[in-house]
Amino acid sequence: MLELTIEQISMGQTAVDKSAALQLLADKLVADGLVADGYLSGLQAREAQGSTFLGQGIAIPHGTPETRDLVFTTGVRLLQFPEGVDWGDGQKVYLAIGIAAKSDEHLRLLQLLTRALGETDLGEALRRASSAEALLKLLQGAPQELALDAQMIGLGVSADDFEELVWRGARLLRQADCVSNGFAAVLQQVDALPLGDGLWWLHSEQTVKRPGLAFVTPDKPMRYLGQPLSGLFCLASLGEAHQALLERLCALLIEGRGHELGRATSRRAVLEVLGGELPADWPSARIPLANAHGLHARPAKILAQLAKSFEGEVRVRIVDGQESAVSAKSLSKLLSLGARRGQVLEFIAEPGIASDALPALLAAVAEGLGEEVEPLPIINETATVVADIATVITAPAAGSVIQAIPAAPGIAIGPAHIQVLQTFDYPMRGESSVVERERLHQAVAQVRLDIEGLIERSQSKAIREIFITHQEMLDDPELTDEVEKRLKQGESAEAAWMSVIEAAAQQQESLQDALLAERAADLRDIGRRVLAQLCGVETPAEPDQPYVLVMDEVGPSDVARLDPARVAGILTARGGATAHSAIVARALGIPALVGAGEAVLLLASGTSLLIDGQRGRLHVSPDADAVQRATQERDSRELRLLAASAQRHEAAVTLDGHAVEVFANIGESKGVANAVEQGAEGIGLLRTELIFMAHSQAPDEATQEAEYRRVLDGLAGRPLVVRTLDVGGDKPLPYWPIEKEENPFLGVRGIRLTLQRPKVMESQLRALLRSADNRPLRIMFPMVGSVAEWRAARDMTERLRLEIPVADLQLGIMIEVPSAALLAPVLAKEVDFFSVGTNDLTQYTLAIDRGHPTLSAQADGLHPAVLQLIDITVRAAHAHGKWVGVCGELAADPLAVPVLVGLGVDELSVSARSIPEVKARVRELSMDRLQTLATQALSVGSPEEVRALVEAL
Ligand code: PEP
Ligand code: MG
Repeated sequence: MLELTIEQISMGQTAVDKSAALQLLADKLVADGLVADGYLSGLQAREAQGSTFLGQGIAIPHGTPETRDLVFTTGVRLLQFPEGVDWGDGQKVYLAIGIAAKSDEHLRLLQLLTRALGETDLGEALRRASSAEALLKLLQGAPQELALDAQMIGLGVSADDFEELVWRGARLLRQADCVSNGFAAVLQQVDALPLGDGLWWLHSEQTVKRPGLAFVTPDKPMRYLGQPLSGLFCLASLGEAHQALLERLCALLIEGRGHELGRATSRRAVLEVLGGELPADWPSARIPLANAHGLHARPAKILAQLAKSFEGEVRVRIVDGQESAVSAKSLSKLLSLGARRGQVLEFIAEPGIASDALPALLAAVAEGLGEEVEPLPIINETATVVADIATVITAPAAGSVIQAIPAAPGIAIGPAHIQVLQTFDYPMRGESSVVERERLHQAVAQVRLDIEGLIERSQSKAIREIFITHQEMLDDPELTDEVEKRLKQGESAEAAWMSVIEAAAQQQESLQDALLAERAADLRDIGRRVLAQLCGVETPAEPDQPYVLVMDEVGPSDVARLDPARVAGILTARGGATAHSAIVARALGIPALVGAGEAVLLLASGTSLLIDGQRGRLHVSPDADAVQRATQERDSRELRLLAASAQRHEAAVTLDGHAVEVFANIGESKGVANAVEQGAEGIGLLRTELIFMAHSQAPDEATQEAEYRRVLDGLAGRPLVVRTLDVGGDKPLPYWPIEKEENPFLGVRGIRLTLQRPKVMESQLRALLRSADNRPLRIMFPMVGSVAEWRAARDMTERLRLEIPVADLQLGIMIEVPSAALLAPVLAKEVDFFSVGTNDLTQYTLAIDRGHPTLSAQADGLHPAVLQLIDITVRAAHAHGKWVGVCGELAADPLAVPVLVGLGVDELSVSARSIPEVKARVRELSMDRLQTLATQALSVGSPEEVRALVEAL
């Protein structure tokens, strides 16, 4: 990965000419071990092909494909030439950035430089820069733009209260990488500002990485502080980036148009109202980019020049990309797209110039923008994916059971509907309008026939109606007239058809009517069907009964668009349980399994599937018995949850009288009331770092004391287990700069950090002790890995306790590090209790980063290795009359509860929502059977075997 750092910069260099500068650069790259001797010839050859001068006094010399073998490590070296070097054509270079890259990594560099390239007088400033730091700052460019695109907007999101809506907004910002984890907690502490018209505003600068604005609307009418709430803005604020937007918003409110936002039914409409995007009805045209190295500086320059020759706005975006369209006239913006070969560009032009500009731009791209281009292969992505996979894997056999990641609970049964998103490659220009018209005519006729078949076969009236609408759309004269116009202009049938469909879909989306806006998806659906016909690619027909949707990966908006009446379940080849799409599936109540492996994409459409979203199991072509069992289980689970909720305030006691305490995990005082309402017998984990994250500086003692007091007040005599500040690792505090670490999870986090900052720790302890009065307070220390750490923390607390006496205080540690579990026999003599943090204990035991995109699914807390450590902990504690809780996610897993109780765990601390179910689970069991189960679990070798043992209970 190419990044710019000061170590790469050499200031104050001199070179008499370009060739001397290249020599210097090559020497530097060789000396630093990035390339082998001889790379200079590559730099020279590349310059001979065309100057690497980029503008603004910068050149980016790099090698040719022939010299790539000489590159050892990808990297860059920057030489500043204050006196300038003549780079030919009258261009002066003050900064030469030598690139050693094995492939197209220099595109990344161009992306990094784009902000700077947009500045005026950059060359002069680079020349004058007096230090590497100053130079780097210049390269990093102007303040960032406010991130605001369709991905930042969530309409009709499921939220029960204001807090949940805030969480949704913060999550959108997190996904756009605008903020770090913890931003939601930060926003929860900020006072929301009512803007009028039901709109509310929240902002903070804490944990912000780049400025961004999210907008969310709730799925049901909501009130907050006695006023209506129809939309919430969450701003990740950095500098002045949001100023223009704020002004537009004020103007909108003054005009009395605020309600348009709260009622918006499409994200595009919101963007248009906020002025962030182009009108939906501007003409557009698409073309795949064939340049071998993507849209790099030279072709981008040619494209920008051409776009500038038209007097009007021309924008371009990458279809399927995350970014909004950028001005095609700006070289820096074009480079910021980072477009690669094979990606499809969409040009959007102002109506007045579109008929001239779009064909000219498409022709220029088709001709390679000044480069020789190899035509793109005609790809049918499905075929490619299948062919690749088929060489190594085969479709799962009938009767097989596949373990996947449970993402949304429930049982689904239905035929598989495999949807691998296909990319179609087609020429933009047609043979002749007569030929293209005839091709299109035939394709539409075939699709119409297919749809008729579907209508005849469909049992459900609702589904039949959908297909009838599709038929009407195919015959819509407005569509056909527009297509005809484009065919006459020489476009191919595919290009004409898809441009018209996309424009119509976008227009539809912008309508203020939810039902009409939904037609956009239908339009795109028939659009793709016809396109598939034109390209000769078969698309599997949608089953007419509720089906299991099988996809590679599914995006949250895909899931949100799904109709639970048609889609019984979701199965994906990739993805993890914490993905947003999994959360949406849970909200919609669609059972879902993710990360089932690519083999599922090879299943034949129509194969009968059974999904068990609780256990994460996929049954392929299940027999009648399996289906019957699953159906019964589904019905009884629903009844069980109802019954569990009715008994949530009763104790969790096993059939043979063994009581297990069920507590709640919370992050701030606001969560207490709900926890108690869900049946919590106490708080088993107060994550105090969330309180710290919610402030721009460490909260003072009085602020902390008030917060802890509120928690204890809310508990009305129930115990409170508080964890002292647990930051570092994946949870940095902005006002506590921690030195960059190679492996932050193995670095200065938890107790290691607070012991290094005793003032902060002492102040937290004092606030805690003061808040207690005579109420039951338990304090525990996170990430303890050694006896010395525990003793240091304990001694500090005991010292303060002399100052602030507390009647009912216990001190304990979290068992999160294997060394602490293994030392439990020693520690148990000294602590009052242990609380097992299975999230971290699992990651450290199995050496799997808990947030790892592909491995985290294997970080199963029911791994016997983790259970062994819990067993050691419980035995040691009980031998000394101490208690043990579990406060990691494992405590809420219905399959783990029996094992944990069988191991002798005394307390389970879970999210408030899970309390009724966990309590009910305990009540179903008897301790002697659970002890046997636990002994068996400790003797097997894998989490799968442990889960099987619980199933057989
Ligand atoms: C744990 O590690 O299990 C735990 C409860 O702590 P956190 O998830 O906050 O790291
Ligand atoms: Mg932890």
